[in-house]
Amino acid sequence: MKAIRLAAFGAPDALQAVDSPTPEPRPDQMLVRVAGCGVCGHDLLNRAGHFPHTPLPCVMGHEVAGEVVEVGSLITRFRVGDRVAMIQRIGCGTCIACRNGQENICTSGPGFYGEQISGGYGEYVVASEMNTLHLPDAIPMDVAPVLSCAIGTGYHALRRAALPIGSSVLITGASGGVGIHAVQLATLAGLEVIGVTTSPAKAAELKTAGAHHVVFAGEGGGFHKEVRDITDGVGVDCVLEIAGTPTFPSSVRALRAGGRMVVVGNVDPGNWPFNPALSILKELEFIGSAHATLNDLRKVIRIVADGKVRPQIGRVMPVAQAAEAHRAMEAKEITGRVVLMHEHAMAA
Ligand SMILES: [Zn+2]
Ligand SMILES: [Zn+2]
Repeated sequence: MKAIRLAAFGAPDALQAVDSPTPEPRPDQMLVRVAGCGVCGHDLLNRAGHFPHTPLPCVMGHEVAGEVVEVGSLITRFRVGDRVAMIQRIGCGTCIACRNGQENICTSGPGFYGEQISGGYGEYVVASEMNTLHLPDAIPMDVAPVLSCAIGTGYHALRRAALPIGSSVLITGASGGVGIHAVQLATLAGLEVIGVTTSPAKAAELKTAGAHHVVFAGEGGGFHKEVRDITDGVGVDCVLEIAGTPTFPSSVRALRAGGRMVVVGNVDPGNWPFNPALSILKELEFIGSAHATLNDLRKVIRIVADGKVRPQIGRVMPVAQAAEAHRAMEAKEITGRVVLMHEHAMAA
């Protein structure tokens, strides 16, 4: 199959067009011809070498949608020709996490697209009944790749946050692919939303997405005072920390006593300096949130098909331009997601 492959960690040019072996599905898997694949901040980090355990060479891309072209003998719910979207990981189906509906944190299954299993920058991927759902006709193929990660990750994080209607939530990295959809979802959930972005030019887009307030993170963060002003000196009930290192110190200070931080992303991997006294004296809660579960994707498909969240796709490009897509994202030129389309799907 045609694929964009990463042979060695490095700059965007490390992504090379190659002929790569077509993945072979097991009896409990199917083969999906990929229509499109979203480009995630996670891909940029992986390409640059921040996840050194990724086996190389690899075909990246975990935000995948396409059409079933072959089904294994144990597949019962899907047929050839079905339009499908997948979550980022294929779980084992039997471990404690999988049995709890937390297949997003399974460590014993086939694994994560673009890392342990060949991803959507290639023309074909394997999928299982545990990570795949049917797509309604209302969702076109150039939109479907944003469901699982760009929208599903924020959905999962808000579910982890478990906030009552009317709560305030600060969303960092709000102009990015996950952030801009989290803003829409949080508004839909009846929350008061404060979006954090680095770029004043992106404030209008955040307001359009539903943010009630927009604050700016300059060098060293420094938005917590403004957040306190907005919340009458109290601080926010919750932070969705999507940016990570650049915003974390100010995000912690923006929380009210008894507040909750859901840690979703980190654009600049490394440790965060943190004084435990802050957490002790203010009884702050820190909750991790990884990707999305199949149930999250099920809800997201419904929400998008009903038009309650508008997918924000900043650019659609051919898969062959994957390196250019990485460069544009690193330059922060894009609000929302970049979707890479395979040639056959672009022609359709
Ligand atoms: Zn992603
Ligand atoms: Zn499992």
